[in-house]
Amino acid sequence: MVIEMQQKIVYVDNNATTQVDPEVFEEMKPFLTEYYGNPSSIYRFGGQVAKNIEKAREQVADLLGAEPCEIMFTSCGTESDSAAVLSALKVCTKRNKIVISKVEHPAILNLAKELRDKGYKIAEVPVDNHGRINMARLTEMIDTETALVSVMWANNEIGNIYPVEEIAKIAHDNGALFHTDAVQTVGKIPINLKTSKIDMLSLSGHKLHAPKGVGVLYIRKNVRFKPFLIGGHQESGRRAGTENVASIVALGKACEVAGKYMEYENREVKELRDYLEKRILESIPKTRVNGDIHSRVPNTTNIGFDMIEGESILLLLDRAGIAASSGSACTTGSLEPSHVLRAMGIPYTSAHGSVRFSLSRYNTKDEMDHIVKTLIPAIARLREISPYWNNEEK
Ligand code: PLP
Repeated sequence: MVIEMQQKIVYVDNNATTQVDPEVFEEMKPFLTEYYGNPSSIYRFGGQVAKNIEKAREQVADLLGAEPCEIMFTSCGTESDSAAVLSALKVCTKRNKIVISKVEHPAILNLAKELRDKGYKIAEVPVDNHGRINMARLTEMIDTETALVSVMWANNEIGNIYPVEEIAKIAHDNGALFHTDAVQTVGKIPINLKTSKIDMLSLSGHKLHAPKGVGVLYIRKNVRFKPFLIGGHQESGRRAGTENVASIVALGKACEVAGKYMEYENREVKELRDYLEKRILESIPKTRVNGDIHSRVPNTTNIGFDMIEGESILLLLDRAGIAASSGSACTTGSLEPSHVLRAMGIPYTSAHGSVRFSLSRYNTKDEMDHIVKTLIPAIARLREISPYWNNEEK
């Protein structure tokens, strides 16, 4: 192992990844040790493993209000997104346009870029300065050339919840399919796909206390699907490759546990998030919440600290054992402000100093106090040496 040990961590970066729930870990362990049979094998040692994949499929379906046959296991949220988009283009050969939002995760945005280079039409719907989708522009952009509309259910950086049912209806009115990236939604707010118009939905295990390397694409029963991975007959011929059994079992358990904690998280985690947000806004001048405070997942707040660099804030937080983020994990390392905040038209001097805190059921009020106590002197110190701040003050 090449792990440097450090002080106790205050982990508030749960939109990047989550801690595996101990109950989930216990459930998956035997499939890494004793029950290593191949689920496709004819003998019982494989068959019993296959039965556990089917149990996990039911557990996932239960959390989503779906049917088990609508659940296809994948390797991650990114694979699910790719599989959905590419399938829609393969089944709707007469249409060559995809409509997405400007604030999608790179799993959709960069795939769309690649498809544009291949000759597909890509329309990106703008958002307002609270990150809300411009529904009038979306309605104009969806037309009879559109094969697929893909809009995320909740945004990973600001937490906004988007009106996916309304968007699905507009897509259907124009004969297009509707896919949603629900990687940041599943386990955070109740979902019932039985009464929904969504055709395909992506989720990822490591965002809801299952391990990394497992995901799901939900495909509504009557929706045609063409596989992304071609090979063996696994997943009813829809996704080839020997199943990641232990992680699938873990994801099933994580969905069951998420259902149990749903109410608690929507009350207690939301309360903690609101407490942290309020204390930061009250005690540090020139700070703002980025996003739509009226429609957000309960665990996320994105706060802009004017006139400083988000990366410097993260380094000072890291020294105090606090793990937060300045955008999506996939864009960390780049000094460009986040594409989400830019799409919202947040001024450069504020977008740069934005930090996302994303909580989980493992966080405590003491941890929130520790964050505020660390932030107050850290922000003051960074502003003292900020040329933007000093010019502003003069
Ligand atoms: N979509 C969203 C909204 C995400 O937040 C993420 C991960 O950050 C992904 C897709 C990609 O998921 P995965 O890491 O499982 O590929």
